[in-house]
Amino acid sequence: MYFTYEQPEFDKNDPGEIRRVIREAYENGREAAFLGRVADYIPELAKADGGDFGICVKNMAGDNISFGETEKRFSIQSISKVINLAASLKFLGFRETFSHVKMEPSGDAFNSILKLDLASDLPYNPMINAGAIQVMSMLSNFMDFDDLISFAKAFCMDDSIVLNEEVYCSERDTGDRNRAIAYLLRSKGVLQGDPDKTLDLYFRMCSLNVNAESLANMSLLIANNGTNPFTGKHVIHPGYIRTIRSLMYTCGLYDESGEYGVLVGIPSKSGVGGGITASVKDRCGIGTYGPALNEKGNSAGGIAALQHISHLLQLNSFC
Ligand code: GLU
Repeated sequence: MYFTYEQPEFDKNDPGEIRRVIREAYENGREAAFLGRVADYIPELAKADGGDFGICVKNMAGDNISFGETEKRFSIQSISKVINLAASLKFLGFRETFSHVKMEPSGDAFNSILKLDLASDLPYNPMINAGAIQVMSMLSNFMDFDDLISFAKAFCMDDSIVLNEEVYCSERDTGDRNRAIAYLLRSKGVLQGDPDKTLDLYFRMCSLNVNAESLANMSLLIANNGTNPFTGKHVIHPGYIRTIRSLMYTCGLYDESGEYGVLVGIPSKSGVGGGITASVKDRCGIGTYGPALNEKGNSAGGIAALQHISHLLQLNSFC
């Protein structure tokens, strides 16, 4: 864990210094990747190279500082939960979305079923599997996969996003825990409609192929209040961005969200494919790729790199 209140003296707006800090973050991330291991509960994910690491930082002017494996495609996994939430807010509205899912950090693992059964009928938040499956069940009444992938392309400013068929099949064939969640939600009368149709869309959205740049783009759009800074296209109303950023901040890194909030302090979302997207309001989007995960299921390299950048450039939301 990297923890110090010491603040090195340098000009935090100097492009050369910013580049130096991002390079150091990349080196830290690549080193930390050796401490983690790739996910294997979805067999296709086990094929990733745990030594890979890449980081992309992009600002509103389109300046892009990238190091390492930033073009390699990998499955977005849980980061799609941000896109699903954004779609739900945009197409169903705030009131409807949050009448079926709460806004509380669960403090449990991403795929936990425990509190859902014992402590609450509604899923804790849209950033964990139960909440995302519930959100998807509502969306599935209005959107099919073509609609969702079009929205994902706009949200990530990346027309090259496609479905990773291998990951999708692997996930579908081994997704019994997610099936259990969907059917439990239906038994409680929370999930309406067909659980299998909902799960199919959920698995597909987790299997979208992105790269570190798509994740930087996504966070850049969020940092720019929902508008594509390059085309001026409004993808989602700015009023919804506050909700998305808040939930990324409080729930975006599973049961490591609190510690990450203190040490990094940037609204972020991780996925077991190895990605992290981090959004610095009015400034930039950051995307990292490092498939070696720590014990909480978050990218070991991504966390190390983001801690470094946040600390040295003072990007913590509470600085
Ligand atoms: N598709 C994964 C699952 O449902 C997503 C998990 C994650 O990235 O946190 O298990």
